[in-house]
Amino acid sequence: MAVAFKHYINGRWETGVTLGVSENPSDLSDVVGEFARADAAQAENAIRAAADAREAWAASTPQRRFEVLDAVGSELLARKDELGTLLAREEGKTLPEAIGETARAGQIFKFFAGEALRIPGQKLASVRPGVEVEITREPVGVVGLIAPWNFPLAIPAWKIAPALAYGNTVVFKPAELVPGCAWALAEIISRAGLPAGAFNLVLGSGRRVGQTIVESPLVDAISFTGSVGVGESILAAATARRAKVQLEMGGKNPLVVLADAQLDRAVEHAIQGAYYSTGQRCTASSRIIVESAVFDRFAEAMRQRTRALVVGHALERGTQIGPAVSREQLEQDLAYVAIGRQEGAEWLAGGEALERPTRGHYLSPALFVAQPRHRIAREEIFGPVACLIRADDYEHALALANDTPFGLCAGICTESLSRATHFKRHAQVGMVMVNLPTAGVDPHVPFGGRKASSHGPREQGSYAAEFYTTVKTAYTASG
Ligand code: NAP
Ligand code: MG
Repeated sequence: MAVAFKHYINGRWETGVTLGVSENPSDLSDVVGEFARADAAQAENAIRAAADAREAWAASTPQRRFEVLDAVGSELLARKDELGTLLAREEGKTLPEAIGETARAGQIFKFFAGEALRIPGQKLASVRPGVEVEITREPVGVVGLIAPWNFPLAIPAWKIAPALAYGNTVVFKPAELVPGCAWALAEIISRAGLPAGAFNLVLGSGRRVGQTIVESPLVDAISFTGSVGVGESILAAATARRAKVQLEMGGKNPLVVLADAQLDRAVEHAIQGAYYSTGQRCTASSRIIVESAVFDRFAEAMRQRTRALVVGHALERGTQIGPAVSREQLEQDLAYVAIGRQEGAEWLAGGEALERPTRGHYLSPALFVAQPRHRIAREEIFGPVACLIRADDYEHALALANDTPFGLCAGICTESLSRATHFKRHAQVGMVMVNLPTAGVDPHVPFGGRKASSHGPREQGSYAAEFYTTVKTAYTASG
């Protein structure tokens, strides 16, 4: 088979030192493509190309940046069905979810095309006579972008688009599970009018390619999305050589359901947040904290809805929940189901490997009633495994919601304005949802969390400028 997915280094497509295979998790007999895998030397070539292109791209006009990013956004939107099909086939989320993600990636490029035209600065009077002060934002330089597999177009988009909009050059390393999506995005970017070296794609493992990027003295800033363990090792390495670093990591997001909530809506939000995209979202609702007065009613409704979810091939019409992305992820999900049972959590539904007409990593969505101390209620599982936790009242629910090392996102379902307002203020997270699922965010506003979930400035929206620019203060004698 011809290598389908290559590196893009210094304006040229390159094959790798070794090859990897991208599989369809809904049908293991379907090979999405072979992909090139880089060694450290090839990754270093890409970093050098980005360093050599720094000056040219930093000097580009806002209009040129706008045109490049707008062209990428337009093509993603125009081809959203085709690229969404590739995404669903490679990652395993359902086709409607995958098409939605592709459109979102397009919208993100369009947003940052506009941001390139409005890079802000400030002019102030000096405290001294005859002096003017200007505050401007300049590109950081070469940025290394390391992405996970679970949003293989949207997360790269929300890193690459602001990096280029603010005049940086890029070395992008996607997760090895999704090289096809990364290649498709790079192929569009390669035709958008960038100078050679301004954008580079290097496929390969985290340990080899990722680590080379993290350790290279030529890389000025690293934006990483992935697991806490890898994020912490990147933080230590980047801090040691004083590179700028931004980390988006895991979550164990609570959805609080109070007794006064519209229960049917709350059940839908819980189902959506816990199980859609196979629970493989950092914003998934994995702890559903329900006020005692409605607990039994809610649990029964949720159990019935969970059992009725249609698990199947990501490209099949009617599928609600696709497979786990990989065998390792499926095994992790099943291991946590077993841990839940061993620890004495009350099993309500699912948690079994499923057979379908095609061989894939299928799992029935699992629901438990857990105690707050149970591991399934504390550790990120990253699969369709959710737990219900009983709360005595609102104050107890809030305390349970905040009782976690993570702090990405939290939701509340209630008809009480005062409780919703209190929760918005006191949830120790970066994003709060009222009467909405915890997952599902807008592309034009900041995204990120607190505590063990995030480190460094926010991503997305105009706040992305904090990470992708560096501030300069200039003093000029005016007379
Ligand atoms: P991961 O294992 O941490 O991998 C993320 C990326 O880092 C991949 O590209 C990986 O490469 C690379 N990597 C691995 N080891 C590395 C190293 N030593 N140095 C540099 N790079 C390295 O995470 P994942 O399994 O892909 O994704 C699941 C995790 O991502 C979950 O914990 C989830 O919560 C988190 N996530 C967070 C957000 C958020 O915004 N907060 C969004 C989505 C996902 P390879 O895998 O190709 O080897
Ligand atoms: Mg991983």
